[in-house]
Amino acid sequence: QTDANIVLHVADVHKNFGGLHALSDIDLQIEEGKTHAIIGPNGAGKSTLLNVIIGRLAPSRGAVVFDGKVLTGKKPHEINQMGVVRVFQTPEIFPELSVLQNVMAPAFAKRDGAFKANIFMPLDAEKAIRQEAEDILNDVGLFERRQSHAGALSRGDKRRMELAMCLIQHPKLLLLDEPTAGMSRHDTNTTIALLQKIKASGMTKVIIEHDMHVVFSLADRISVLAGGRIIAEGEPDAVRGDPRVQEAYLGG
Ligand code: ADP
Ligand code: MG
Repeated sequence: QTDANIVLHVADVHKNFGGLHALSDIDLQIEEGKTHAIIGPNGAGKSTLLNVIIGRLAPSRGAVVFDGKVLTGKKPHEINQMGVVRVFQTPEIFPELSVLQNVMAPAFAKRDGAFKANIFMPLDAEKAIRQEAEDILNDVGLFERRQSHAGALSRGDKRRMELAMCLIQHPKLLLLDEPTAGMSRHDTNTTIALLQKIKASGMTKVIIEHDMHVVFSLADRISVLAGGRIIAEGEPDAVRGDPRVQEAYLGG
């Protein structure tokens, strides 16, 4: 394995909250096109790690490198502009607007930067965005609901819409924090199928997940976090059989 296909490198990251060591000695390399799962019991430091990657938290030590560029010190929106997109923490959902308008919104926001001088978006640009939003809504199974108010969607549908809002940003790295939390078994399975489809498209993904069924259905590689440290890492079958993992995670 060469450095050329490492998209994200979390290098010797530590994060303390006062005297609490939420993350210690974290070294993580995410390969291009792979789905990398981070699992671990409650309080292990999973969300803290995600927040360090997306720039919402500054590490106490160490750095995060994405696509050869140091992210540490950059603002969350700058990191987002570089193609690092977090799912299910979308900055803004407009409940009064339609599902379609919600999915178009992040694409408009991206264009705003490029078209600052223009008061109106060129009509063909808007048409292209609408077409893409409709295609993505079709992919996530929400095309029929495109004219519904976003606020009226069921919980599972809302999450699909949020995923669509991320996909229209063409992420280079998609980060998912417990994408099936609180979902029914049916919605969980639909979401797994959808994420498998995205996986087939070759998008690099980091998924934080509690649900073992989800992890083993999706992950190419798993890192196990416990007490703020990575205690095991490998392919799903190896990790599943690792006694340290059983003790720390399944017993925890
Ligand atoms: P996980 O997502 O794996 O459940 P977290 O990353 O949320 O774990 O939390 C890791 C540890 O850091 C926990 O002990 C938690 O209480 C603590 N923690 C998380 N965020 C903060 C914060 N902003 N201030 C103080 N302690 C925090
Ligand atoms: Mg968490």
